[in-house]
Amino acid sequence: MDILVRQNDTFALYSRIFSVPLELIIDSNPTANPNRLMIGQTIKIPGYIAWQYTVQPGDSFWSIHRKFNIPLERLTFVNPLVQPQSLAPGNLLRIPSRAQNEPASRAYEYSPSNLSQDFTRLKSVYPFIEQTEIGSSVEGRPLYLLRIGKGSRLVQWNASFHANEWITTPILMSLLDEHLWHISNNQSNEHQRRMNAYRGSTLYVVGMVNPDGVELVINGPSSSNEESVVKINGGSTDFSGWKANINGVDLNDQFPAGWELEKERTQVTSPAPRDFPGNAPLDQPESKTMAQIAENIPFQMMIALHTQGAEFYWGYEGLEPPESAKYAALFSELSGYRSVQYVDSHAGYKDWYIAEFRKPGFTFELGRGVNPLPLSQFPEIYTAMKPVFIQSLMGLPE
Ligand SMILES: [Zn+2]
Repeated sequence: MDILVRQNDTFALYSRIFSVPLELIIDSNPTANPNRLMIGQTIKIPGYIAWQYTVQPGDSFWSIHRKFNIPLERLTFVNPLVQPQSLAPGNLLRIPSRAQNEPASRAYEYSPSNLSQDFTRLKSVYPFIEQTEIGSSVEGRPLYLLRIGKGSRLVQWNASFHANEWITTPILMSLLDEHLWHISNNQSNEHQRRMNAYRGSTLYVVGMVNPDGVELVINGPSSSNEESVVKINGGSTDFSGWKANINGVDLNDQFPAGWELEKERTQVTSPAPRDFPGNAPLDQPESKTMAQIAENIPFQMMIALHTQGAEFYWGYEGLEPPESAKYAALFSELSGYRSVQYVDSHAGYKDWYIAEFRKPGFTFELGRGVNPLPLSQFPEIYTAMKPVFIQSLMGLPE
């Protein structure tokens, strides 16, 4: 929400009136000098949206603040030009409201265009989020990396490597949204803990690694890809089993960690809805982009979200560091998911991440059932992953 600076305003005043931590107001207004605010300057208050209310006969500032449960000071603050005593029917008031915190509101068939709308909304409500385009998919959809915070612990979460596992994206975006809500709200019961996580970490999120594949599974083929994807899909127009990118390459079989072995193992030698590792490691733009960000940013942990099985994998060929086992024990306790050190596969992002950087990397298989998982799994998955999300930012307890 934008507000205009008045005489004698300070960020500390805004922090008090809106119950938003001072440092988030600073982080939301990187170009403003807190010590030299100028009257009339626009300042962003994170965690709020403002909407318009038309004054009705009989309304007063008092009745409106009670009606919408908004502190009087907050209401008068965002309506500096309105004289409370001369309020008249038909006047427009700005009503400052906290953004909603409803994780279940994303429990729908969440496509690449839904993700891009979500980014727009989140960045507007929480202007301290930084969004970078890191690459694009085969069909030219942008791949974005969100960054939250400036702390020393760098953590990457990603979702939807596999097309028919798209439920992982609205889960991840909801985990993020709820986190932003709690840190922006001084009065939340989780505020202190969340704020410690924010201060100590920098969170990086790739919301949808495989947008072309997700679009195919949710909305079907387009006129330009229909012929090729139906052919790759063995003539079928049922794409519910499709995991690959739009070229029929399994993006989580593309990484240079036992890629030759994976090729042997899967026995899939041409484009397919799943399990084709490609003609060479990282020969697809999506997997290449994911490798590049890990090479460029020294993440201390990486968590990749998949479905299904209510378990997670955390080892690769004995290359994982000792702390991986400690995290695994903790994550299993927090989520109720089964901790599995080794699985018989190679060339996954987690495998390569562990082999290359010797840092804790995890593949989480969320929920139970047949992919694409039904949306009825959303609440259960969310409950399992929420404490893992927070813990990943906090690191191991002392
Ligand atoms: Zn998967």
